[in-house]
Amino acid sequence: RVVVGTKVDQNHVNWVTAYNMLTGIRFTVSRTNAKMDRDLTDADFDAKHKFSFDMYVPEDFSFAGNELTPSAKYDFKFKDYAPWVFRHLRSIFGLDPADYLVSLTSKYILSELGSPGKSGSFFYFSRDYKYIIKTIHHGEHKFLRKILKNYYDHVQENPNTLLSQFYGLHRVKIPYGRKIHFVVMNNLFPPHRDIHRTFDLKGSTIGRDFKEEGLEENPRATLKDLNWLRRDQHLEFGPAKKKAFVEQMQRDVKLLQKLHIMDYSMLIGIHDLGKGNEENLRDKTLQVFQPGGEAGDAQPNMLTRTPSKLESARKAKELRQMIKTQKPVPMDQTATKMPDELEGQQKNNYFYVDDGGFRATHEDDTPGEEIYYLGIIDCLTHYNLIKRIEHRWKGLTNEESQISAIPPERYGDRFLKFISSVTKTREAAEREKAEESAH
Ligand code: ATP
Ligand code: CA
Ligand code: CA
Repeated sequence: RVVVGTKVDQNHVNWVTAYNMLTGIRFTVSRTNAKMDRDLTDADFDAKHKFSFDMYVPEDFSFAGNELTPSAKYDFKFKDYAPWVFRHLRSIFGLDPADYLVSLTSKYILSELGSPGKSGSFFYFSRDYKYIIKTIHHGEHKFLRKILKNYYDHVQENPNTLLSQFYGLHRVKIPYGRKIHFVVMNNLFPPHRDIHRTFDLKGSTIGRDFKEEGLEENPRATLKDLNWLRRDQHLEFGPAKKKAFVEQMQRDVKLLQKLHIMDYSMLIGIHDLGKGNEENLRDKTLQVFQPGGEAGDAQPNMLTRTPSKLESARKAKELRQMIKTQKPVPMDQTATKMPDELEGQQKNNYFYVDDGGFRATHEDDTPGEEIYYLGIIDCLTHYNLIKRIEHRWKGLTNEESQISAIPPERYGDRFLKFISSVTKTREAAEREKAEESAH
């Protein structure tokens, strides 16, 4: 999102890592794209290629938090996994190869969304906010490689899948540093529209409450199941859209159950068409940090830093200008037709067809007042991994550990049941309420 995250520039502690990630992606993706397309073989799913890079650091170069001798050479190693599979995946997801490279390899690098989850993963947005780089644990990495064929087949059979779209799997290693595994995936949220409320839903109530005190100060907080229920929120899809949505979710969850995956969630960003798009410029609650500090002044925890208000406003304006100079984006009324003006955006997926999202509908299937940007995220947690982690947590009472580590089959059923049950039109919700109070 426009105002979320910290720009990763030369003064950022993770600049080298981010730079190496992008350099590696640029090199490996171009390398594969340069070849003639061909069908996949079984070996493509296991393929891995290792590369060594020399990075030259100029004399006058310095950046925060790192003791770099000028003029030294910094080498890094880069590993590219299943490049042909991901090339095909990108094509299935409707990505333009050139566009992908441009987004991920601009000089003005990325912005970092700190570590929004508990897992310790880092998130980086491409400069145009279309893509997210998420660092993943070795276990998740191994698991993705293991299930890649299943994932690929599923995506091929389900062009409208709600699952996270994976575009690349790589590893970077700096000398004496640790190995960092990461995936490139779709940013569910659009660069050009404010998201007025964000929810991360699992269908569980345990620990699924975000403290709402002071929420105004943090309008981009990700709320959870209990907040959703308390607000009596719904995914307002009329009959046609609800059917499509629930059926796709069922197919996606079936795969996750089969692969013994759990702990995933439905990420939902709500854009309120009534509120429009100006909020984040007026947002008085943005945390401010002082840019222009000395190099070396970087805080060890960059996660607490957000861009200054001025910087954010400028960036937002820039981006909006950029979007304006592209063609205007019409809101498609029927929503089943593809908007043909949304350049570089998903055109393949039914759920991302309304300006990158999925618009609410009324009972008669006429368009509603909100656009939902949604998808199933964090789907690389294998059941065994969860159990192992919980075993380490000796402090947990039996009851608690049972609740959180419910088996994948039940996890999926509960997830489906919850999300389906909150998918209803405003009219239906009001009717149900009236009926309830009548009894
Ligand atoms: P944990 O395991 O503790 O849940 P995690 O590090 O695995 O955390 P995720 O659950 O994948 O992180 O994501 C954390 C948050 O990052 C989400 O709630 C959401 O706000 C944001 N996020 C993750 N994936 C996406 C995406 N594809 N598009 C937009 N935002 C995302
Ligand atoms: Ca999660
Ligand atoms: Ca996770």
